[in-house]
Amino acid sequence: MFKGICIEKTDTGQAVSRKTLSVSDLPEGDVLVDVSWTTLNYKDALAVSGKSPIVKRYPMVPGIDFAGVVAESENPSYHKGDAVVLTGWGVGEKHWGGWAEKARVDGSWLVPLPDGLSSRQAMAIGTAGFTAMLCVMTLEAQGVTPDKGEILVTGAAGGVGSVATALLARNGYRVAALTGRPEEEDYIKRLGARRIVDRERYAEAGRPLEKGLWAGAVDVVGGKVLANVLASMDYGGVVASCGLAGGMDLHTTVAPFILRGVTLAGVDSVMCERVRRMVAWQRLAQELDLRLLDEMVEEVPFGRILEVAPKMLEGRIRGRVVVSMSS
Ligand code: NAP
Repeated sequence: MFKGICIEKTDTGQAVSRKTLSVSDLPEGDVLVDVSWTTLNYKDALAVSGKSPIVKRYPMVPGIDFAGVVAESENPSYHKGDAVVLTGWGVGEKHWGGWAEKARVDGSWLVPLPDGLSSRQAMAIGTAGFTAMLCVMTLEAQGVTPDKGEILVTGAAGGVGSVATALLARNGYRVAALTGRPEEEDYIKRLGARRIVDRERYAEAGRPLEKGLWAGAVDVVGGKVLANVLASMDYGGVVASCGLAGGMDLHTTVAPFILRGVTLAGVDSVMCERVRRMVAWQRLAQELDLRLLDEMVEEVPFGRILEVAPKMLEGRIRGRVVVSMSS
């Protein structure tokens, strides 16, 4: 028997509770993993809140990420004792996820724990950090080099934003960080941002084109902020759009695209294909300053994860949250 958190359907919506589970309860899969660390991502916070249709099947163990050790495997690529990491593939949405001491999954969803990272560090990175790397790779693939100009990172004090800021600065880009939390200025600058942009400046609908400021942008906010980011891109600028922390809608005009050649590039981490996934993890292990990663992390005991989740939806979590299954 092992402990886990379960979301169950009720007449009025859903109920979330701690449960004692058994291996026979786990969904099908060819690899059984003893989960040692998991994390709290924005999507997990949404899933347990019931405010957004994240959970596709009930009952569901949430947790879109986990790291642990293979306990049993029928998959030729993995053996008992292998250290593994999982992000995405609908785990924690339609297949039981990482908020339990054991998980059974399809081995093709796993990646070996990258050399140089501990399981805790892999979860400090998690889906948020992995997505930040995908955003950096997207800007690079579209030809945004450090000499092209400044890069704007929105939601800079959050998980994706913190890792994106650190990675871009490490790779020689000049980063401007948009945040609604001026009190986090020192933290964001320690990650490598050169200057802070007040979120208020981008909070209300603006003109179709503003002064062109940014060669690239990583946007986790969506909504009006993304519309204003698009309007403020410099000629040929590229926006890597990955989030909706400020809203799903996007009311904009074609002006940035047809008058400035701006590119809006979507970034998805869930179904990201395996080769790109492996490259992103290798690069994270090599390029992310692990001392900075430590600064981004708050460790929360498993028993408190449900208490902390609502703070994430209120934008009150700084950086990343890691959760030890042994606490
Ligand atoms: P997070 O740690 O909660 O960070 C989100 C940040 O967005 C907050 O820290 C805050 O930054 C800003 N923010 C929050 N509410 C806002 C609002 N109403 N208006 C403007 N800014 C707001 O979450 P995360 O893990 O970084 O995830 C960020 C977004 O990316 C989420 O929407 C998540 O679903 C999405 N995401 C997508 C993928 C993908 O595969 N596409 C993967 C991971 C995450 P400041 O306090 O600095 O302003």
